[in-house]
Amino acid sequence: MASEIPKTMSGVVIEKPGGVDVLQYKTDLPVPEIKEGEVLVKNEYIGVNYIDTYFRTGLYPPSTGSYPLITGKEAAGTVVASKSPRFSPGDRVVYLSDATYAQYTTVSAARAVGPLPERISSETAAAALLQGLTALTFVREAAGIEQKLGISEGPWTLVHAAAGGTGSLLVQILSVMGAKVIATAGGKEKCELARCSGAQWTVDSKSENVVERVKDITNGKGVDVIFDGVGKATFDADLEIIARKGLIVSFGNASGKVDPLDILRLGAKNVKVMRPVLFGYIVTPEEWERWTTELFELIKSEKVKIKVHEVYPLEEVARAHSDLEGRKTTGKLLLKV
Ligand code: NDP
Repeated sequence: MASEIPKTMSGVVIEKPGGVDVLQYKTDLPVPEIKEGEVLVKNEYIGVNYIDTYFRTGLYPPSTGSYPLITGKEAAGTVVASKSPRFSPGDRVVYLSDATYAQYTTVSAARAVGPLPERISSETAAAALLQGLTALTFVREAAGIEQKLGISEGPWTLVHAAAGGTGSLLVQILSVMGAKVIATAGGKEKCELARCSGAQWTVDSKSENVVERVKDITNGKGVDVIFDGVGKATFDADLEIIARKGLIVSFGNASGKVDPLDILRLGAKNVKVMRPVLFGYIVTPEEWERWTTELFELIKSEKVKIKVHEVYPLEEVARAHSDLEGRKTTGKLLLKV
């Protein structure tokens, strides 16, 4: 098997932080070597996530501590070499790891799911894993929606950027669980998609006043839980539309990092704010097993559907980043090797 693995591969390298032009497609990168507990995966589909843009721009420092780096956090493909008893060459897997914008990636066996059943395509798996785990853990662990559902008529929830990759999964999971979901999205078409995902109310953040509409919808009460991946542009409005004793789950920086918060602003309504990161919920083997199992059950039962915006050739990664940052996309973006 090892003899079939080439010495060089294609991939996307960043030598310094910057705009989309720093994403350099190369064809002569060394194929990485696996250590104990790892597998080497020949990637087929690579998930594009907003976090990839933060590593590209330098908002987040490189995980390896220095440049050059190959970015990317998730992919699906086939194991071609294994130093783990859990996987054998030929197994189809989906996984989270660094350096996924490449033909081959070394992956800790503890961060891979597989062998994937035939009915889950590699495309769906690569589109589902990171954003699906984010939505699931943020709804269940960060926000504790189940406990809140037990109280009176259930919570009002609001999801920003609800037609996006993570947003559309948040809406689907919240509505499957029985929460009242208000979705904001930029434009009519995006609002329609959010409605199809299960949002009972939609607010067009491009043409409507979000604060006024949310107050109307909730009869002045405000929402109990806000899921906000937009960040800087929406945080002040969040403090206006949050209900007394509500929770703001601020989890992203699509419009920029939220400004430093004067903690005294929380006192007016006894508001809670948290800033969770997916990777903090999938640390132990038990957590990984629990959340990946639950996610793929939701997908197999079709309670959650994965929508792919476009599959871009790996060479066209700059176009994928431009589209994502330009708010031109809905659902998940994938790269094909
Ligand atoms: P999306 O598919 O949601 O794309 C981003 C969306 O954000 C856009 O489509 C747009 O939707 C909205 N947006 C609003 N303002 C801007 C702006 N100024 N520039 C760009 N986009 C804007 O991306 P992802 O699902 O990959 O990620 C969504 C958010 O979730 C990101 O902030 C990401 O960092 C975060 N995230 C955080 C995780 C964590 O562990 N904390 C894990 C996974 C994701 P519209 O036009 O409808 O406003």
